[in-house]
Amino acid sequence: MSNDCLFCRIVAKEVDADIVHDSSEVLAFRDINPAAPTHVLVIPKRHIASANELSDADGHLLVDLFQTMASVSATAGLEGGHRIVTNVGHDAGQSVHHLHFHVVGGRSLGWPPG
Ligand code: AMP
Repeated sequence: MSNDCLFCRIVAKEVDADIVHDSSEVLAFRDINPAAPTHVLVIPKRHIASANELSDADGHLLVDLFQTMASVSATAGLEGGHRIVTNVGHDAGQSVHHLHFHVVGGRSLGWPPG
């Protein structure tokens, strides 16, 4: 855990969040500033700064994260489609430096993103 990381503090239950999935390695909770009717953040509980910091040993964790995203989208009823986004670094607008996947849906989504 990184003490100055907001998402580590959510994992540690030091900061409240609207949690929709909680398993041994993965947590999912609603984004505090939703960009669509469904906007859930799916994160590893272990601190990993971004997708650039993943290693060969994280294969199982990645499957767990993507299966959680599939479950979150199914539970939200996003049969019509949804988007999975992870921002990496300043130019992409990453504001929390703990790996997270945005699961966004419930409306028509434009492409390309801004
Ligand atoms: P990013 O800009 O890709 O790093 O995404 C960070 C996301 O975290 C943003 O969409 C924020 O709205 C969201 N966020 C920030 N603080 C919280 C919080 N306390 N609970 C839930 N989501 C948050």
